Amino acid sequence: MSGTGGGEAGAGTGTGFPRGVADSSGGGGVAPRAAAGDPASRGPGSAADPSGTDAAAGVDATAAADAGADADAAADPATAAHAAADADAGAADRAATHDVRRFWEELGLPGLVDVHTHFMPERVLEKVWAYFDALGPLTGGLAWPITYRAEELERIGTLRRFGVRAFTAMLYPHKPGMAEWLNEWAVDFARRTPDCLHTSTLFPEPGAAAYVGRALEDGARVLKAHVQVGAYDPADELLDEAWGLLADAGVPVVIHCGSGPSPGKHTGPEPIGRVLARHPRLRLVVAHMGMPEYEDFLGLAERYGELRLDTTMAFTDFSERFAPFPRRALPRLADLGDRILLGTDFPNIPYPYGHQLRALERLDLGDDWLRAVCHDNGARLFGL
Ligand SMILES: [Zn+2]
Repeated sequence: MSGTGGGEAGAGTGTGFPRGVADSSGGGGVAPRAAAGDPASRGPGSAADPSGTDAAAGVDATAAADAGADADAAADPATAAHAAADADAGAADRAATHDVRRFWEELGLPGLVDVHTHFMPERVLEKVWAYFDALGPLTGGLAWPITYRAEELERIGTLRRFGVRAFTAMLYPHKPGMAEWLNEWAVDFARRTPDCLHTSTLFPEPGAAAYVGRALEDGARVLKAHVQVGAYDPADELLDEAWGLLADAGVPVVIHCGSGPSPGKHTGPEPIGRVLARHPRLRLVVAHMGMPEYEDFLGLAERYGELRLDTTMAFTDFSERFAPFPRRALPRLADLGDRILLGTDFPNIPYPYGHQLRALERLDLGDDWLRAVCHDNGARLFGL
């Protein structure tokens, strides 16, 4: 979900996380069960596929032997332990990468299309991470360790190793006067990152239509809007012309408009429903499956043929604890299989990337559904 300033998780609404949500019974939700992508199943020696870890294990053994043979290291248990820990981390990384690739290879896909990944100016991203760091047991909230905290190039490299063919740079302002600056950064990021779908953003402010028009001329292929962090009404008339431009251009807008992880003043199906009533062809992609108002947003998708939903964080063990997806809605999920898109929230996720994929797999909606969601729907939408 990620945030800026107050955090995507709820500017102005506190941490927004339910207190003491450790109960994982999931009351009617999709029952969490162990998946190959679960952190718990990941340590060295527990990797899912032995063939993939042979090489990794070999490298690790060499590293461990090197550390052991080093007289200094032997004399300094802390150094030796550090080397061993590094080797363990390397093995876990390789196992995690292997798990992701095995997922799409077994489906016969050429890779993944992920419509919800966060890249933004370093300074902004650091604020987002600081926000998540502040969550956790000390604040009575939910611990949210960022799994992929690394330099930008390393994060891009991770997605490429996973086999993500196309991804986005979800950036968003939390106040006026910020969107244009973010959009300028995004133009540059897209230029130096050809596998990133050029992303732009907007905010209800004078001039929004003008800079959205420019973004489209610059080649923007997707926009991000954040109703919760921005704390604005998406039906604000200052956005009306911009929505019209986007609807005409057929350029999708990934929009966080559900009330998860905490409600905002303008979140939920009603405000965005007013936008859709005026712009029924607008290609909105409702982030997080509209969590926790899953069924309301499925209803909007059933009503508006251009509405899509992204899977970001939905169905994972993490989200099922406080916003379980209702099992009775699974048939509707199956029926909308051509308008559900893989999204992950990489890098700001508190579990390995593969867990999102395994969480989709365990819905048991079949391989055709998985192929559509994890690749084909996105490839079609973006003309890949
Ligand atoms: Zn997000």
